[in-house]
Amino acid sequence: MTVGVLALQGDFAAHARALARVGVATSFVRKPADFVGIDALVLPGGESTAMLKGLERNALATPLRDFLAARRPVLGTCAGVILLARTVTNPPQRSFDALDIDVERNAYGTQLDSFSAVTDDGGAFAALPTVFIRAPRISRVGAGVEVLARVDGDPVLVRDGSVWGATFHPELGGDDRVHRAWSSLRQM
Ligand code: GLN
Repeated sequence: MTVGVLALQGDFAAHARALARVGVATSFVRKPADFVGIDALVLPGGESTAMLKGLERNALATPLRDFLAARRPVLGTCAGVILLARTVTNPPQRSFDALDIDVERNAYGTQLDSFSAVTDDGGAFAALPTVFIRAPRISRVGAGVEVLARVDGDPVLVRDGSVWGATFHPELGGDDRVHRAWSSLRQM
């Protein structure tokens, strides 16, 4: 199994290292041909506006849309979950509507640009150290979407089948539970 990591911008290298730690092979996705042979895809953190431009510039928007439409396994973190959302606010921008959630960008304000927290009690992802960097907030969770972890009551890790989204950076927290669980899904 090979997990593709979108490598246009942002912290794609940290995701490749996290996946290596849990024993998963990765390849970087920078051009349409890089979609050939990947079983799953990570959309990393970074700047979602820059990623949208890079996707267009590199002719990756259509292969990404096809990959998402096939409901292949995807993990979107921070900017990546913004790309996966149905609706994006603050400011509004295009997204791929692969997860029935709405997100508000940069929702924690300038004073709390970056912070770490620990997920609330309960479930497989309780007490998970989480790093937030100019993070979005999930403002609506659709009926078919399961909340896997919360911080202060806010959903921060959600899934619809093998499509997972995190508003934090699971690749930076020093705890690889998210990468391990997502990459060991039966569908992969
Ligand atoms: N603020 C970024 C955005 O809106 C996301 C930040 C991140 O990925 N760490 O795209």
